[in-house]
Amino acid sequence: MQSIPQEFIFDPQLIRRFDVSGPRYTSYPTADRFVEAFNADAYQAWLGRRTVGAISRPLSLYVHIPFCNTICYYCGCNKIITKDHGRSAKYIHYLGKELALHAAALDGTHEAIQMHWGGGTPTFLSHEEIVMLMETIRSHFGLLPNGEYSIEVDPRKVDSATVQLLGRQGFNRMSVGVQDFDPAVQLAVNRVQSFEETQGVIEAARDSGFKSISVDLIYGLPKQNVISFNRTLDQVIQLGPDRLSLYSYAHLPGHFKPQRRIHEAELPSADAKLQILQLAIRRLTEAGYVFIGMDHFAKPDDELAVAQRRGRLHRNFQGYSTHADTDLLAIGVSSIGRMGPTYSQNVRTLEEYYDYLDRDQLPVMRGLELSADDLLRRSIIQALMCHFELSIESVEIAHLIDFRSYFSQELAELRDMEKAGLLEIGDQWITILPRGRMLVRVIAMVFDRYLRNDRERTRYSKVI
Ligand code: SF4
Repeated sequence: MQSIPQEFIFDPQLIRRFDVSGPRYTSYPTADRFVEAFNADAYQAWLGRRTVGAISRPLSLYVHIPFCNTICYYCGCNKIITKDHGRSAKYIHYLGKELALHAAALDGTHEAIQMHWGGGTPTFLSHEEIVMLMETIRSHFGLLPNGEYSIEVDPRKVDSATVQLLGRQGFNRMSVGVQDFDPAVQLAVNRVQSFEETQGVIEAARDSGFKSISVDLIYGLPKQNVISFNRTLDQVIQLGPDRLSLYSYAHLPGHFKPQRRIHEAELPSADAKLQILQLAIRRLTEAGYVFIGMDHFAKPDDELAVAQRRGRLHRNFQGYSTHADTDLLAIGVSSIGRMGPTYSQNVRTLEEYYDYLDRDQLPVMRGLELSADDLLRRSIIQALMCHFELSIESVEIAHLIDFRSYFSQELAELRDMEKAGLLEIGDQWITILPRGRMLVRVIAMVFDRYLRNDRERTRYSKVI
C-alpha cells in the first residue's frame, strides 16, 4: 500500500472536460447487465455451496422496506407511496418467509457482521413491526456483537421514542435524509422537513448510543443556489454528522415519473450546479471532513476514514463499507444481493414478490455469475474507487495476467487522462492524483468492459 495523501483538488475545468454519464459502481458488473437466465434455482445452488473450498465469508443482510408516506419529486428509488399502514404488516409476514427460505438454503455461517435496512422508508414500520421483523431476523441469523447495523431514517416521521427503540433493537448506525434545508427547495421537491425535526432525531440517536450518523444531501435540486445551499451547509455542519453524502441530482423524468413534477426552469444551470458543489466541498473540508471518494465525506476519526487510511475500505450496494467482501443476503422487493461470485436481484413488484413466496420460491428476478474477467475488473474498479490507486503487481499475482498486455487498450485511454493530470501510470502503480479524485468513476469506467462500445451511456446520471 502506498501512503494515501488525503487532499484532492477541485478543478472545474477538468470536471467540465471529463464529465460524462456513468455508473456509480456499487457493483461491477452493474445491475443493468444482470440476466434472467440467472434465476432462483441458480441463486439457490450458490447459497448451498457457499463453503466450497473452505471459504467462509462473513454475512451481511440488506432489508428493503419499500413504503413511503409521501413522494419526494426527485426520487429515483423503488418505493410504494401509501398511507395504508396495513400494507406493511402483510409485507413483513412475507419478509419472514423469504428469510426462512434463505436460512434453509444457506450453507456455512448464519452469523451476520453487518445489516442495513433501506427503502423506501424503513421507519414507515410501526414499533411493533420493527420489533417483529428484528425478532424474525434473529430467529434465522445471528447478529454478531460489534457489527454494523444501520437504518435509513426519515426525520419527518420519527420521534425520539422510535430512535430509542431502534437503539434497543441493536441498530448502531443511522443514515438521515436531509437533501436541503431551504424552505423553497423543500417545497419544490415536496419534502418539507425542518431543521429542528432533523436535529431532534440526530440528538436522540447520539443519546441512544448510535456510533455513526450519516446525513444525505443533494445538490442540483430546483430553486437551489449558492447562497441558499450555503445556509443549508451552515446548518448541516452545526449538526456535525460523522459522515456526509453529497449526491448530484440527475433529472431523468423519462425514467423516474415523480421527477416530471419538477419544473426544469427551476433547476440550477450546469455552471451553478458546479459552483454549489465547489462551495459544498470547500465548506465541508474546512469543517474538517475528509473526502472519501465519489460523493462521500467523513470525519477523520470515523471508521470509513480510518479504514481508507489503512487500505481496508470496500464498496458495496450501500456505498463505502469497512467490511471485507461479505456475502450479502438481500431481502425484500427489488433488493440486490451478492453471494460468492454472483449477484442476484429480487422481483420489483409486491404482487410478484408475494406470488413467488406463496410458491415457496426465492423471489429472484435476475442475476449474474461473474466471469474471471468480471472478477478481475471488479477488483480493479474497487481499488480505484476506494483507494485511488492500483498495484499492478498485486493484480497480476491475484489474477494471473500480464497487466500491460491484458489492458493495453485501457492503458492507452488512461494516457489521455494522465496528460491532463488526473492520474499517473508508473511501473508498479496507477495512482489517481488529487485533480482526478473527483472524477474517480470516469477513470473506473475505462475498465468497464460492458461500457466499452456501449452506445447507451446516456442512461446514467451525469457524473457531477
Ligand atoms: S426519496 Fe426516499 S422518502 Fe422520498 S419518496 Fe423516495 S424513497 Fe421515499
